[in-house]
Amino acid sequence: MLRRVLAFVRKHLALSRAPAVAGLTPPGARASIRPVTETAEVVVIGGGCTGASIAFHLAERGVRRVVLLEKGALASGPTGRSTAIVRQHYSNEVTARMALESLRVFQKWGDRVGGTCGFVQTGFLVGVREGERAALEGNVALQRGVGIDVRIVSGGELSRLEPELFTEDLVAAAYEPEAGYCDPVSTTTSLADAARARGARIVQSREVTGIRLEGGRVAGVDTSAGPIAAPSVVNAAGAWAHRLAATVGVELPIEPSRHPVCAFHRPPDFGRAPMIYADFVHQFYMRPETGDLCLVGSIDPAAAGNLADPDRYNEGVDLETISEFGGLVSRRYPALERGFSRGGWAGIYDVTPDWHPVLDAIDGIPGLFVAAGFSGHGFKLCPAVGSMMAGLVTTGRRDERLDFFRADRFRTGRLIRGKYDYSIVG
Ligand SMILES: Cc1cc2nc3c(=O)[nH]c(=O)nc-3n(C[C@H](O)[C@H](O)[C@H](O)COP(=O)(O)OP(=O)(O)OC[C@H]3O[C@@H](n4cnc5c(N)ncnc54)[C@H](O)[C@@H]3O)c2cc1C
Repeated sequence: MLRRVLAFVRKHLALSRAPAVAGLTPPGARASIRPVTETAEVVVIGGGCTGASIAFHLAERGVRRVVLLEKGALASGPTGRSTAIVRQHYSNEVTARMALESLRVFQKWGDRVGGTCGFVQTGFLVGVREGERAALEGNVALQRGVGIDVRIVSGGELSRLEPELFTEDLVAAAYEPEAGYCDPVSTTTSLADAARARGARIVQSREVTGIRLEGGRVAGVDTSAGPIAAPSVVNAAGAWAHRLAATVGVELPIEPSRHPVCAFHRPPDFGRAPMIYADFVHQFYMRPETGDLCLVGSIDPAAAGNLADPDRYNEGVDLETISEFGGLVSRRYPALERGFSRGGWAGIYDVTPDWHPVLDAIDGIPGLFVAAGFSGHGFKLCPAVGSMMAGLVTTGRRDERLDFFRADRFRTGRLIRGKYDYSIVG
């Protein structure tokens, strides 16, 4: 009976691989069974979509003792507040390919990962006025070149595709029929479940307080429940990643900023649900949500100036923001003037100087890896990022794609340049 109870406790506390852990040693046990330091092959810090995807891909590659540590609950940070739009519209080949690779995973989630990511295919439009037409056409050509199903539409075709859209000031739009959105919480929990099923430990409510070094290389992490020895640590702590990096003297240029999302109820005569839409004229994005809602956020790069402490910020939206976003979206969808507000929320972006993440091994500290700084567009990339980072951790090699996201680019001036002014579009 006692053996069965202990087996149950070990399973549910996900501690079965720890050699001996304080608190689990039965009273009166022999002196030789002493608590020893926990060990792992790889510690992943952060239980957002990035950390969960990395843990899954590491476990899938056969890394035997992967431990993911999350200070709150899985997806309790920015991932859980994400609008989780999955589009491939990027202005450079590397991210466009990553978005396409990730879309294929979202489309076949049950087979590839298991569980559900809640992918809903809606289609995506990005509308521009005259001055931006050439950039749009160039980017669409680039995207088609990597195999993305996208084309330019305008005039009557645009109105037929999206009847409620005010199109008079739009010269053209890029139309991506395969795009959609996901449920970011199910995405993260199913990645974590799949990692666990392949032998990883997923530990929630355990905070990493520092990264441990010995002889200049990674030796593990200190946590709120004692240290864990590990030769490799992946910092996937999103808007907190720069603070953890600083514990070993590494500077990551990540600035957390606050980004609100407002929900509006569509009026009963709106017709069918709209596609996802990004507007370069009024600088907002909109996506449909269940319950006849539209979710609206900003793509104005100036919003990155709203710096915030990710542990202490206003998670709600005020009337001023609701009225601003309502005004923007109803200029493009006039029928929404008859809609009404359903409130909203705010989340945090981990913004880097070029709005692209750092996906790299840290030079000079063997065993330390970073996957952070997704600058408000990391959800859609998480399947590809998990696979790329697992490759880097297990082989030590930066492939061509990883070279793009090097940590030292901010120092060497090799910043990633998008072809739009709207940095978040990439
Ligand atoms: C409002 C909003 C809308 C967005 N919309 C989109 C979109 O439409 N499409 C898109 O692609 N992207 C979007 N994004 C961006 C996307 O959601 C993020 O890039 C992505 O979720 C980042 O995931 P992550 O796992 O890297 O980071 P996070 O979600 O920040 O996860 C990091 C985790 O690390 C944990 N952590 C931090 N410090 C520690 C520590 N010391 N010890 C243990 N755990 C720690 C945190 O609790 C957190 O759960 C949006 C973001 C927001 C906020």
